Amino acid sequence: MSIMNDVTVTCPSCEAQITVTAVESVNADRRPDLRDEIIAGTFQVQQCGDCEAEFLLDPQFNYLDMGRGQWFSIQPLSLLGDWLALEDEAIATFDLAYGEQASPQAREIGDSLSPRLVFGWAALREKLLIGEAGLDDATVELTKLAMIRGLPGAPLRAGTEMRLLNVSPETGDMAFEWQDNLTGETVETLIAPRSLYDSILEAPDAWAQMRAVLEDRVFCDVQKLYIGEGRAAG
Ligand SMILES: [Zn+2]
Repeated sequence: MSIMNDVTVTCPSCEAQITVTAVESVNADRRPDLRDEIIAGTFQVQQCGDCEAEFLLDPQFNYLDMGRGQWFSIQPLSLLGDWLALEDEAIATFDLAYGEQASPQAREIGDSLSPRLVFGWAALREKLLIGEAGLDDATVELTKLAMIRGLPGAPLRAGTEMRLLNVSPETGDMAFEWQDNLTGETVETLIAPRSLYDSILEAPDAWAQMRAVLEDRVFCDVQKLYIGEGRAAG
C-alpha cells in the first residue's frame, strides 16, 4: 500500500504555513502511476494556496517495487552529509520489513530486493530508469567514474551531481547530466556509449576495488567518494 500524510510546510515563495499531502511510502507494484510520476518529475509537486507558487516537496519516504527488485529509503538531498547514519537507519528499516527481523514470508520477498539509500529526486529517478532498463546500478556508477577519469577538469565534486537522464531504447547509450545542486543548473550533458558500460562488466578485476566501495552497504552512489566519511572531525 502507498501511505500519504498531511504535513505543514513553509511555502518557499511567500513563506506561508501550508498543509500538503506528503508521501510516506510508495508501493510501485500497486501504484505504477506513482512511479511514472516520479520519472516525469511531477510527483509531490505542491501548489501554495496563498501565492499559487508551485514547488517540489523534499522527498522522505520508502519505495518498493517487487517486480523490479527495488527497495529504496529516500532522503532529502540536504541530508547527504549524514549518509553514514542514514545508512544505518535504512538498513534497520529494511531488516524490520524484509530482512533479518521480518517474518519468513516477508524475508522471502526481501531476498529478491536490493535495498538502497538515495538522496533527492534526481537520484531516485536515476535508480528507476536503471531498473527500467535492466541495468546494474553499481555498474552505472562505475560508468560515471570511467567518464570522469577520461575528462580532466570534470565538474564532479561535492555540490554537483551526475545523473542519468535517459537510456536509448535502440542503442542502450546513456545520457547523463551534471547538475549544480545549489542552483539546479545543468553544468554539462554527456553521452556514455553502451560499450563503456559493457567494458566495465567485461573487466571485473580492474573495477573490483571500486565496485566493493560502491556496493558496501546500501548507499551505492559515486557521491560517497566526494563527500567524505559523512562524519565531521572533532
Ligand atoms: Zn506561497
